[in-house]
Amino acid sequence: MNRLLLLATGGTIAGCASDSATLNDYTAGVLGGDALLAAVPALQDLATISVEQVANVDSADLLFEHWRALVDRIRDAFAADPVLAGVVITHGTNTLEETAWLLQLLIDDPRPVVLVGAMRPATALSADGPLNLFQGVQVALSSEARGHGVLVVMDGQIHGARAVTKVATQGVGAFASLGSGPLGWVDGVGVHLPTASGSRQVPFAGLALPEQWPQVPIVYGCVEPGPLLLTACLNAGVSGLVLTGTGAGQLSAGECRVLEAWAGPRPLMLRANRCGSGPVHGCPEDERLGLLAAGSLNPQKARVLVLLALLAGWNRVQLAALITASP
Ligand code: ASP
Repeated sequence: MNRLLLLATGGTIAGCASDSATLNDYTAGVLGGDALLAAVPALQDLATISVEQVANVDSADLLFEHWRALVDRIRDAFAADPVLAGVVITHGTNTLEETAWLLQLLIDDPRPVVLVGAMRPATALSADGPLNLFQGVQVALSSEARGHGVLVVMDGQIHGARAVTKVATQGVGAFASLGSGPLGWVDGVGVHLPTASGSRQVPFAGLALPEQWPQVPIVYGCVEPGPLLLTACLNAGVSGLVLTGTGAGQLSAGECRVLEAWAGPRPLMLRANRCGSGPVHGCPEDERLGLLAAGSLNPQKARVLVLLALLAGWNRVQLAALITASP
């Protein structure tokens, strides 16, 4: 029998409401991973699954210490058990893509790491969690998933960690890989995923995560943003920053003036966009202002990259090289 590790972190998939017709007013992160597993008896035929509770929170309340615990546990589990087929993580959907991307940058193993969540609480009519969990396990056990990096399985779609994002506040089909589409599908017939092409770059494979993490705020672009937020971040001495420009990552003249006038140490800064898909390309201004174009990373994923780059002691040139290698 295949062996799998299930790491539970909370979210709506573990959420409970007062009755089955209540879909929005519920508490996330109530049921433990054991209960999620017990709700899908068919899983017993697929694998021997050991469950560990890493957290039980709404994913908006996830902390860096939870990320650290997840990364350490996955690395240890893969190192200690060569026969372990893969890892499945149950997670709140709101920040699931950030955790998936973090793991993608840190976990260097061809075995699948699959994140699943749910849009309806476990108590709801037609709760989507049990099927997502079942299909996540199917994917984690499949040979096709090897070498694809970290995957997200929601509503029968298999997404890669880099492109996947939550695109809707309601409905079970709330995830998409904008620009590229899902990597594959899982259905009643099985897992449909093309074979992974070649070896994957894991830029922070050797990075041990510390207790203290830097602060990396995201500043959001809009009409007349005013200097308040950006100036406050710079004055606070943040070591990293993500600027979410409008359109293809354009900053306002006012924001550029703030950056130009800043005489203190320059944070590691990525310039992303608020459109949701499409790249941000570098421009001559970037060099002068100390910015780097975030390519096709959305702002929250750009932030994860800056966090890890800072933890690894990278400078702007190293970060630029990584983004260019994998735009
Ligand atoms: N509030 C939930 C969370 O933990 C939303 C969800 O899981 O769908 O992110």
